[in-house]
Amino acid sequence: MRTDISKDTFNRQIDYLRISITDRCNLRCVYCVPAEGVHRFKSTEMLTNMEIVRFVRAASRQGVTKIRITGGEPLLRADILELIESIKELGIRDLAITTNGMALAKMAGPLKKAGLDRVNISMDTMKTDRYRLMTRGGELGRVWEGVEEAERARLYLLKINVVPIRGMNDDEVTDFARLTMEKDWHIRFIELMPVDHCGKWSSEARVKKAELVEKISGVGKFDLFEFRGRGPSRNYRLEGAKGVIGFISPISECFCQWCNRLRLTAQGRIRPCLFSDNEIDIRTPMRSGASDEKLDQLFRQAVRLKPDGHRLRENDSACLPAMSAIGG
Ligand code: SAM
Repeated sequence: MRTDISKDTFNRQIDYLRISITDRCNLRCVYCVPAEGVHRFKSTEMLTNMEIVRFVRAASRQGVTKIRITGGEPLLRADILELIESIKELGIRDLAITTNGMALAKMAGPLKKAGLDRVNISMDTMKTDRYRLMTRGGELGRVWEGVEEAERARLYLLKINVVPIRGMNDDEVTDFARLTMEKDWHIRFIELMPVDHCGKWSSEARVKKAELVEKISGVGKFDLFEFRGRGPSRNYRLEGAKGVIGFISPISECFCQWCNRLRLTAQGRIRPCLFSDNEIDIRTPMRSGASDEKLDQLFRQAVRLKPDGHRLRENDSACLPAMSAIGG
């Protein structure tokens, strides 16, 4: 039976779950993981599809209606279609995925058929050589093919995630913004966050929203049209544009007071806040015969553990573990 007890200690409604389904990735983005990669867990340490679906069922009983599948690279998981199908069958209203798009061209149609609603594609540059450098080996052409196939499969809303980095891709901000004149996509500029072992991408490399807004205002009339929708993004539109430009600025414009999410790591730990290592293990109880009531209780415990806000602030030396481990 569904209950409405998913409010946390700070009266925030928790109705969104982000699930990392693998810590493997076929790219090594310079601001996400170190060149040598990160520790990889054994496959037996990862949650199985059945375990993930069981947890989603518990989450849905506690009021979760929106799920995002991420990683690592979620499309590397061989049983992803079955997983999408099983999650959608639970009646999840909004089921989305975040992908680097390298394998999306062949997967977009099958994903839609399995029940996926929409897709976010990470693409930090539209320059082929630069893409190869930033991802340490990625092929931009394959990502564009993925974008085309996602459109063809009607995986709407289509969002493009861009992390602007000073001196690396910040000269392309207006090119990305111009895309919204022709395309009804959401371009989302995500503020660079400090990640362990990627220390040189620190606060000097971070391009703040005000700077991005100033650049984009040179393209045309550019106004805020939605202070905050259902997520952390502040959304703007260029006059006459079909698409939207969003800014997600966890550090310079902290949005914790609107946070509505929990994360589940690929190893089966609920992470109440991206920026806190305070996690709750659900894999061990699940593998030791925990009842549904116990799972519900662990979910509620995680909701109660959510801090009022993160402790990362400008110039703070705190770092996140690699995103592939916790799900970006
Ligand atoms: N492999 C998938 C992808 O590339 O979209 C999903 C995982 S990736 C970790 C999810 C998102 O996290 C990507 O959009 C990526 O740009 C973002 N991300 C990774 N490291 C980041 C950082 N240091 N600061 C801001 N965003 C980051």
